[in-house]
Amino acid sequence: MGPDELKGLIRTVPDFPKSGIQFRDITTLLAHGEGLAGSIKQMAAIARSLDADAVAGIEARGFIFGTALALELELGFVPLRKAGKLPVETIGEDYALEYGTARLELDPTLVSDGEKVLLIDDLLATGGTAIAGARLLRRAGAVVEHALFVIDLPELGGARALADETLKTHSVIS
Ligand code: 5GP
Repeated sequence: MGPDELKGLIRTVPDFPKSGIQFRDITTLLAHGEGLAGSIKQMAAIARSLDADAVAGIEARGFIFGTALALELELGFVPLRKAGKLPVETIGEDYALEYGTARLELDPTLVSDGEKVLLIDDLLATGGTAIAGARLLRRAGAVVEHALFVIDLPELGGARALADETLKTHSVIS
């Protein structure tokens, strides 16, 4: 399945989580066998040219695509978790949401110095979440040059924000 067919499997839900937002719901893509396989194959085709040693995914939807991609590439998977979930000592990055803040945490012993880590999430909007993930991985010693998404919403400026952090954006669907 190519990007245009995959796009057709994403459901747009108006006014979620609040009025005026058009939420791109990927659960309809996940539930479609060829759609799920196709999205991972498309991500893998991009990722193969990026020379990664490991894949890191952002909770929660980045875990789904990130783990499947890591399996396809036969690489390890590093979870970037929401606050308070990991049972060991962590490092954390707070980042701004439209209302309030959120925090991602990482067990820094999961990555080694100089390891090339590819950052994965389902969707890029303003870029705040991905930037927090990349900062965390870099603090743990990883080299993070690329972030790969199923969906990029270009009008929200995420790729520009990522470029300011020397992160290159890749996506299956725009
Ligand atoms: P950003 O930090 O780039 O503004 O927002 C991206 C993060 O919020 C990602 O972790 C993504 O999962 C989530 N997100 C924001 N808007 C949407 C949306 O319309 N659909 C989905 N599936 N996730 C979204």
